[in-house]
Amino acid sequence: MPQTTAQTFRTALIQEEDLSLLEEVSMKTAGVSHLEMCIQCGSCGGSCPPAEEMDHTPRMLFAMLRAGMRDAVLQSNTPWICVSCYHCVVRCPQNVHITDVMYTLKSMAIREKKYRDATAPEFSETFVDMVEKYGRSFEFGLATRHYLKHAPLRLVGMSTMGLGMLTKGRMSITPRKIKGMPQLKAILDKAKELELTS
Ligand code: SF4
Ligand code: SF4
Repeated sequence: MPQTTAQTFRTALIQEEDLSLLEEVSMKTAGVSHLEMCIQCGSCGGSCPPAEEMDHTPRMLFAMLRAGMRDAVLQSNTPWICVSCYHCVVRCPQNVHITDVMYTLKSMAIREKKYRDATAPEFSETFVDMVEKYGRSFEFGLATRHYLKHAPLRLVGMSTMGLGMLTKGRMSITPRKIKGMPQLKAILDKAKELELTS
């Protein structure tokens, strides 16, 4: 009989710790993650507004990281549910940069195509495409592309709000590029180059 996630987790914990995943995530996180300092106190999960929607609390996810459970961590919906509110970071007694770690896990899940539900990763990729093309978000294009692909019927329900935003000038129907596109492109190219060599 296949093991449940909880059983796999317990098995991994009894085995010798495999810190290679924790080190990899820590290295890929901007700045100093302090991930190895986590004492499993649970303050992060306790202060996380959308924790109930997560399949693992941040505390549990970090224990799984420490246990080297690569697939289970990268398949978890936790980083995708995180709304980057930083409540956990403020309350963490060990100064673990939890939100930044969530970004790292999202980027690893996209690169390794390990996510279970493509909705959030594809939204994220569309957003990045827009920023690379125009230097800023293009809400009209972002929402249209996303809903057409993932929830076409919801487009009808959103049309009144969209129309209101368009007529009040809160949203534009055509994208506008920023002036500093060459500079932004140079920054993004350098970031990609650094990412490839890291
Ligand atoms: S609050 Fe910090 S130390 Fe406590 S479980 Fe979360 S990450 Fe670990
Ligand atoms: S930053 Fe993410 S993980 Fe932290 S409390 Fe907010 S939603 Fe939860």
